[in-house]
Amino acid sequence: MKLLFATSNQNKAIEIAELLPSNFKILTLKDINHFEDVPETSDTIQGNACQKANFIKDKYALDCFADDTGLEVLSLDGDPGVRSARYAGEHRSDSDNIQLLQERLHGKKDRTAQFRTVICLALGGIQLVFEGTVKGRILEEPRGHYGFGYDPIFEPENCGKSFAEMTIEEKNFFSHRARAFTKMIEYLISTNVSVD
Ligand code: IMP
Repeated sequence: MKLLFATSNQNKAIEIAELLPSNFKILTLKDINHFEDVPETSDTIQGNACQKANFIKDKYALDCFADDTGLEVLSLDGDPGVRSARYAGEHRSDSDNIQLLQERLHGKKDRTAQFRTVICLALGGIQLVFEGTVKGRILEEPRGHYGFGYDPIFEPENCGKSFAEMTIEEKNFFSHRARAFTKMIEYLISTNVSVD
């Protein structure tokens, strides 16, 4: 079964491909020659995931799924949250976002945080959502070179490694996205639905 992932982030696609049963194949926006940005203007993570999935579904008449992720830091009242990608401003880099987060956390004792992913599956006339979270803390200094985004400064609970120090297999054992994605695959298998 082919599944269209409405993303142009190849890091996400590579992570997810590792979790696929052998009879599933992931396509991304590149595979359907879609290279423009997909709108994500909602003020919630779920709203953005569904906006992205529905935009691609409507434009190409293809079943698809999209994800949106936020890093929610307890002592910052859940920030950067839905604004994680643009925390330091429009078109700013991952390192700018990390730097701003470290500035805002300066002097705060509580560095607990969680990643939260919502996947929206737009299938036929319906949409379904699947959520995955991982609790952990924000490290004082970046560690590791794998992954993307905030990976170098996020350490899952009871783990001792940042996400950026993990292989994809290790990250998938803990990660928000892997948890949400696994729920979606379980749903597709248990209902035996076919995807366009
Ligand atoms: P998106 O809108 O889901 O692409 O993600 C929002 C922001 O969170 C972006 O800055 C991403 O780099 C970051 N992000 C999403 N997923 C992860 C992850 O698995 N690890 C680290 N950062 C992530």
